[in-house]
Amino acid sequence: MTNQIVHYLTTDEAANRLGVTRERVAFWIQSGKLPIAARSGVGFLLSVDTVDKLGPALAASTPPLPWVRRGRKPKPAPVPLPCGCVPGTRLFCRHGAILSAAVDLADGFAAECDSPAYRGLARLAGDALAEHLRPPTIDPDPAPVMKSEPERAAA
Ligand SMILES: [Zn+2]
Repeated sequence: MTNQIVHYLTTDEAANRLGVTRERVAFWIQSGKLPIAARSGVGFLLSVDTVDKLGPALAASTPPLPWVRRGRKPKPAPVPLPCGCVPGTRLFCRHGAILSAAVDLADGFAAECDSPAYRGLARLAGDALAEHLRPPTIDPDPAPVMKSEPERAAA
């Protein structure tokens, strides 16, 4: 029986050896920082010597990858509105829940009865919910005092 010496690593094995993700190793290969030894049916093969020589410094100095998983971008956490609604979810404040129920009801009627009135109602309810879920905007130059109608007419 002979001692089997492993000379090559797959990208997965190199990633495990260096304690980084497969995507990071692929990024190093793609950017020319980690030369491959060969291509095989399972992908790139890397020399153990090269991985051990270059890998630790790369692992220590590379900034975080611009992605989390291949093909997926990190999704920002939904931010709740001051009223409690969370846009993009089904989490609503009391008003949002009523508007959402109105949208569902109007959509149901519009689907069952082919009537312009129900379609209009569904559109109105949808617009009202969208308006409710719009994040508050910060006015860069807010009016300091609300004027009454006679004051505005006098100005
Ligand atoms: Zn709300």
